Amino acid sequence: MIEIYKKLPGTNCGKCGESTCMSFALKVKNAQRKMSECPYVKDEDEETLTQEPVVTMENNYKRVSNELEEEIKSVDFREASDAIGGNYETKNGSKVIRLKMMQKEYEVRKEGLFANDQYCQDSWSKIIIYDYVRRKGNTPLTGDWVSLGHFPNTASHSKAFQKKAESKIAEKFNSNMSGLKERCKQLEGAEVRNKIKADYVCGFKLLPHVPMYLCFWEADEEFPASCKLHVDSSAEAYINIEYLAYLLEWFVKVFVE
Ligand code: SF4
Repeated sequence: MIEIYKKLPGTNCGKCGESTCMSFALKVKNAQRKMSECPYVKDEDEETLTQEPVVTMENNYKRVSNELEEEIKSVDFREASDAIGGNYETKNGSKVIRLKMMQKEYEVRKEGLFANDQYCQDSWSKIIIYDYVRRKGNTPLTGDWVSLGHFPNTASHSKAFQKKAESKIAEKFNSNMSGLKERCKQLEGAEVRNKIKADYVCGFKLLPHVPMYLCFWEADEEFPASCKLHVDSSAEAYINIEYLAYLLEWFVKVFVE
């Protein structure tokens, strides 16, 4: 999948009908799309790549998470932990970074990612946390709260995100502000005042240094209820934007369930 992705322009222009080049690459890998459906692919690239065996999407995620797991073995845990807001400690003589992702506690060890002392099998949790650790973002918050579309090459993805994710929160909690506040509280959100103009704003931590504001506007005679998720613009120093998009979608899935 990564090899296919490398042959794409990476501009997420949406002409192939997918919101990102990454999702197009995954579908090509799974034989659901053809390379020629991206108008920017050269014929010789298509020939080389279509000779590769088809593997499932889950196998692709596994492979990426395994590659990252190898990479974090050489990361300086103490330095990384300081840079990403984790808690560094030594446990049974081994270096460990403890951190929370979406309210859940994890331990990054040299042997991999653990939750409740069990090796984590979920590829996406591993991909996101390993990427977060290896980047060592170490960038102060800018105080500039932006939506996904602010980041480069995310315009089409941002539209799909609004449709698939943010609108789900708006629909579920339309005319139910008390239900929305209760759900925020259950997920350890804290009300935020006077930062963003909205009927209700609640702050969450997706990762220690990746805070997010859920902004909600109630319906009126003219417009239906709406919701926007904003992150601090420093987020791109901490996490690959594709992974951030996945994390935001994951948050919405948990929020409305
Ligand atoms: S057509 Fe699809 S794969 Fe090609 S550059 Fe645009 S979004 Fe990427």
